[in-house]
Amino acid sequence: MAEIIDGKKVSEHIRSQIAKGVDKLKQETGITPGLAAVLVGDDPASEIYVRNKRRACSNASIYSEEHKLPLETTEQELLTLVDKLNNDPKIHGILVQLPLPDHINVTKILRAVSPLKDVDGFHPYNVGLLVEGNPRFIPCTPHGIIKMLEFYNIDISGKQAVVVGRSNIVGKPVSMLLLHRHATVTVCHSRTKPLDEVTRRADILVAAIGRANFITADMVKEGAVVIDVGINRNEEGKLTGDVDFEAVSQKASYITPVPGGVGPMTISMLLWNTLESAKSTS
Ligand code: NDP
Repeated sequence: MAEIIDGKKVSEHIRSQIAKGVDKLKQETGITPGLAAVLVGDDPASEIYVRNKRRACSNASIYSEEHKLPLETTEQELLTLVDKLNNDPKIHGILVQLPLPDHINVTKILRAVSPLKDVDGFHPYNVGLLVEGNPRFIPCTPHGIIKMLEFYNIDISGKQAVVVGRSNIVGKPVSMLLLHRHATVTVCHSRTKPLDEVTRRADILVAAIGRANFITADMVKEGAVVIDVGINRNEEGKLTGDVDFEAVSQKASYITPVPGGVGPMTISMLLWNTLESAKSTS
């Protein structure tokens, strides 16, 4: 039976470190880290994320502000707001909540965020630094995954790591972080054939797919470490991951639950990046 990797516990540990870092920065420089979230439209999942982020900022004494814009906001209006935030000294981190409405060019908006305030780590400049191995801002979910592995003293070096999913937000950056920590990394996607043969080779298996219970026990090697990034709702509306938790936890050595695994880490690492950004201005 696998040991559960408790994202809430790791998160609490990291948030207490962040709160101490914020206090120290305030005492030494008078700077309060500030985070601005920009939300266009009324996607319920995004609203929940932004609400949780506000609470987490307040608990860590980080200044936060929200810009909720109507669905019909134009690309130019959004660019104007981003520019204003880029030049606002109170703000050290800017988060543009995705997804954006179809009439707005996401790439254009993400590139407009100053790379020095890009706490999501999505700007191509920061992606480049990450690939190079000298990251400024590490994307929050992948960073959270590494922090969890470290907290549980799980060795990465020399391991076979398999990442299912190749998105810019999760799959690609987590692959890069694992590679930099000397794993041998295989990245899978919807055209990988045969997927189960590849996943069965994994000592560390990361599922970032977005399909409920997609990773079944027969796809997992005995003793593997299984990280479930997925957030899906099943027919009853219950939150569920990409991994068949009941069956896979019988085989894995460590596993993250959903909820309570990777999820809480994402906001923690957003606060982490905001603090790091504020420190770099001092
Ligand atoms: P994307 O939809 O951007 O990417 C999904 C990836 O899964 C794609 O690369 C896709 O392949 C791959 N995929 C889809 N179907 C299959 C299949 N049958 N076999 C193999 N690979 C497949 O999703 P994200 O990376 O943004 O998110 C993934 C999941 O993680 C979602 O559930 C999301 O909600 C969750 N998430 C959770 C976060 C957290 O804080 N816990 C943060 C971010 C995301 P292809 O490229 O070929 O299409």
